[in-house]
Amino acid sequence: AQPAESILSVRDVKVVFSGFQAIKGVSLDVADREIVTIIGPNGAGKSTLLDAIVGKSPVASGHVYYKGNEITNKRPHAIAHMGIGRKFQNPNVYNDLTVFENILLALKGSHGVFASIKTKLTSVKKAKIETVLERIGLLDKAFTKVSSLSHGQKQWIEIGMVLAQDPTVVLLDEPTAGMTTDETHETGEIIKTLANHHAVVVIEHDMEFVKQIAQRIVVLHQGEKLTEGSVQEVQTNPKVIEVYLGR
Ligand code: ADP
Ligand code: MG
Repeated sequence: AQPAESILSVRDVKVVFSGFQAIKGVSLDVADREIVTIIGPNGAGKSTLLDAIVGKSPVASGHVYYKGNEITNKRPHAIAHMGIGRKFQNPNVYNDLTVFENILLALKGSHGVFASIKTKLTSVKKAKIETVLERIGLLDKAFTKVSSLSHGQKQWIEIGMVLAQDPTVVLLDEPTAGMTTDETHETGEIIKTLANHHAVVVIEHDMEFVKQIAQRIVVLHQGEKLTEGSVQEVQTNPKVIEVYLGR
């Protein structure tokens, strides 16, 4: 059984790729409107853990619960539809469309590019899109073509496309990858705002950024959870120091 306040619970999950154990029995709880940051060296299994949650990598044993219901190995679109949204590492936006149109296409209930653009834009949809644009700090760029935006701004659109799906839990895999220092800081502020409305799980490398957003940090290493706790607890943990500073 999972703690009552937990909205997403991962219980002793293992993921195996043709004999190789990428995740060796990891448990994790996420409460509503909480930010959980996952850190760990390359190959630790961070992305694979998110894949296991969203049904993209098969769970060999263990369980994933969402709002008390088991979702282990359900199909990715079913899990997304239930309310777990996932942003991938690389931006995948429509460059020839405006920021507004990109979010429109991602709205829950949209049925592909042409159908969505042709469909009459209701005031409800318009308000929804504006809320999303406000959360990602791009309201003033609504009618700008995506091709003229910076890499960082494109990453925020991707976050917006996840928000357009009405998620309860938002999973972000390295949301600051390739960003400038200013964009990275702005992303931290966006994520803190997101946590007023959603549970947020963030995979991140940049320790300054982790300090900016982190409430609770989970450290993965070689497919196992090394420890979890506050920034202070994790930074002073001898096992974490050993993993990051080498032997
Ligand atoms: P991280 O995101 O922490 O850098 P990953 O979750 O991407 O790590 O990978 C964890 C381990 O699992 C790595 O050793 C990686 O090579 C392996 N791995 C990830 N995905 C696959 C896959 N689809 N098939 C085989 N091995 C994989
Ligand atoms: Mg990864």
